[in-house]
Amino acid sequence: VRLPIHDAVLGRAAERGGATALIDAATGTAVSYAQLDRAHRGIAAGLARAGLREGDVLALHSPNSIAYPGVFYGATRAGASVTTVHPLATAEEFATQLRGAGARWIVTVAPLLETARRAAELAPGIEEIFVCDRAEGHASVLDMAESAAPEPVVAIDPDEDVAVLPYSSGTTGAPKGVMLTHRSIATNLAQLEVPLPMGPGDRILAVLPFFHIYGLTALMNAPLRKGATVVVLSRFEIESFLGAIERHRVTALFVAPPIVLALARHPAVARYDLSSLEYAISAAAPLDAGLAAVCSERLGLPPMGQAYGMTELSPATHVVPPAGPPAPPGTVGRLLPSTELRLLPLDGSGKRVVGPGEEGEIAIRGPQVMKGYLGLAEATAEMIDEDGWLRTGDIGRVDADGWLYVVDRVKELIKYKGYQVAPAELEALLLTHDRIADAAVVGVPDEDGSEIPKAYVVRRPGAVRLTEDEVMAFVAGRVAPYKRVRRVSFVAGVPRAASGKILRRQLREREESG
Ligand code: ATP
Ligand code: MG
Repeated sequence: VRLPIHDAVLGRAAERGGATALIDAATGTAVSYAQLDRAHRGIAAGLARAGLREGDVLALHSPNSIAYPGVFYGATRAGASVTTVHPLATAEEFATQLRGAGARWIVTVAPLLETARRAAELAPGIEEIFVCDRAEGHASVLDMAESAAPEPVVAIDPDEDVAVLPYSSGTTGAPKGVMLTHRSIATNLAQLEVPLPMGPGDRILAVLPFFHIYGLTALMNAPLRKGATVVVLSRFEIESFLGAIERHRVTALFVAPPIVLALARHPAVARYDLSSLEYAISAAAPLDAGLAAVCSERLGLPPMGQAYGMTELSPATHVVPPAGPPAPPGTVGRLLPSTELRLLPLDGSGKRVVGPGEEGEIAIRGPQVMKGYLGLAEATAEMIDEDGWLRTGDIGRVDADGWLYVVDRVKELIKYKGYQVAPAELEALLLTHDRIADAAVVGVPDEDGSEIPKAYVVRRPGAVRLTEDEVMAFVAGRVAPYKRVRRVSFVAGVPRAASGKILRRQLREREESG
């Protein structure tokens, strides 16, 4: 691959000329490859002129938009590392990230300007806040994009210099800044090209957030590198999502399980012409095989394949290739090229690997492994051993044909009387109940101090009111006795991260505070 990352992704943008790089699904505004090429070079020049120096950290704080890639690659071309920020972060959360990342520059959007300003007051050392849309009396990178100033000359070391500093989702603890070098990201793009072909004429719907590594890779980097068109949606809403697929003849979907659930359940799906879709991939959280099957069998969508990865892995290690023989249900895919996998025993007994077909903690070695957590040497050393193996904290199993199945996270296994219960399995089962809209399962302490599985259930609106006993009986009739749900609460919603992950920590805290 060509390096640094802006050359890996936009190295051929100028020669692609008038071909459409990005379309705003809401307004229809399009950006050609030639425009994107000029815009990101102009922004690089403008940022350098404003004082940005090689090695500076720029915080990009924006929902998905057609301006996002220009800012992102403009910043990296100027030699910056980009730390991507959740657009819904509070000023305090944003400030924590600014401080942790040592950011000096912010690019935000007019509607979020106030939050960005307050965050900048709480974090020392911010030089300037730009917007990437228009805000009265405020410097916009859109003006830089039109400048013809020469771009800065920087000497990026692709093996050492951090291109992106995303924060992990914070599902299991405080979000950590993950240092991803130009080489690790670009290499992961190349690894994905083998199983996931993309090219001019393909149209990818960018509905997952660019600030998360999954959206950044699958929806921005990979399609732009291959000359595809990115159809940008700034948030998920089922009707506009389906409308965008129909109107823009979208060919590939990269989604997370809550979107699969919405597709499987929403009565509107049949009203849209989705025949342009060639493949669909779900990642970021466990996907129930039954739910995936509903999409292809009942709705006539292409089979819903999966991919697996994590922020610390740039992010992908496994994917189900859309071409070729159908993958077995429930698998997250096969190992990408030049990546190694080991399954470590769950009892923590060191480096021995588990036997064939057995479950173990997934460990990965490959060029996509992060450089480390920023400023957290100890946490990095706990994660990556001296031989370069990264412990994912996820439990997996590999079948005889090399397909990986992710069981759950090690930390989230519920220990019931010496047995291990995977919440993901019970959640998937609960979702098959026709009066359950959503569900989460966590381990909660029983009266005697042991841990028991408790289900938090969102009822579907309807005439017949679901009871706790019905929920427990439904599960009891379908699983081994030790896996039974032993307590049920009805809730209005299940707390989830932007990537669709259930925030079990929040449910657990709720439990503790009574
Ligand atoms: P934090 O590390 O801050 O607690 P996080 O692990 O949720 O947050 P991410 O890097 O966004 O942050 O998510 C990676 C995790 O997502 C993986 O470790 C795995 O648990 C889960 N995951 C990703 N893809 C899949 C998949 N296809 N099936 C099941 N789980 C998946
Ligand atoms: Mg993690």
